[in-house]
Amino acid sequence: MSVWQPSVLDAAQPGGWAVVHFKQHFLSDSNGVLFPREWLKKQDLPILAEHGLGHFAGDMVYLLELGQTFDMPGCNWQSLRQFLLHGDADTFRLLSYATQIGTWASHHRFCGSCGSAMQPVHGERAMHCAQCELRLYPRLSPSMIVLVTRGDEVLLARSPRFVPGVYSTLAGFVEAGESVEHCVVREVREEVGVEVHNLQYMGSQGWPFPHSLMLGFHAEYASGDIVMQVDEIEDAGWFNVHDLPPLPATRSIARHLIDVYVARRLGQPEPVLPS
Ligand SMILES: [Zn+2]
Repeated sequence: MSVWQPSVLDAAQPGGWAVVHFKQHFLSDSNGVLFPREWLKKQDLPILAEHGLGHFAGDMVYLLELGQTFDMPGCNWQSLRQFLLHGDADTFRLLSYATQIGTWASHHRFCGSCGSAMQPVHGERAMHCAQCELRLYPRLSPSMIVLVTRGDEVLLARSPRFVPGVYSTLAGFVEAGESVEHCVVREVREEVGVEVHNLQYMGSQGWPFPHSLMLGFHAEYASGDIVMQVDEIEDAGWFNVHDLPPLPATRSIARHLIDVYVARRLGQPEPVLPS
């Protein structure tokens, strides 16, 4: 069983630990990101919302969502990406969940339909408007991520947002009314101008930047020359599996899609996607 177990805890109950979140950053000190909750609540923090998140190593963990950052002696703010790259897997899972609940909580303090204040529903991860009965759940945005393959070659691209030098797979959000398979074909066509076929679903990963669910595929090249989408793609090309550029972080599904394909071409054991 994982160290981190999400569940809906009643924020009216005292005690436990808390993480402090503001815009994908967490308050941190030399002991980490978990602070005694009752002590924190005496620190005059600008708290927007409080939600019970679940249990970490058996202890109750709550979220304090702030409306602005707050300086506390001996503490600093660390980004979620730093925990993705350098933190332990259980802490990243907790913070990945916390950031999504925090973002959702801060965006749904008021009803988008009638403007009244919303309240958390007891025993459920939902916000409710007593005025118009609107009920809202944490938002997930499905998106596809795909490695386009051609024998010993893979198609990798750079977005202007990437770390310098790093090349990755293609990705994009599923639009209303389309299937994820249709999204794969459409996005590859839009971003690099090539046609793909023989899609193979490879697995999924929750991606909390800010609330995606990535559905991963391999797709075989069918036809066309690379034509890069202006503003979205800075560079794209075919890379041989024996000579790859710098790649994304090892915990990402992007890297997993590449590593699995390379392992298959080289006849090596396939890596397992971190859960
Ligand atoms: Zn309402």
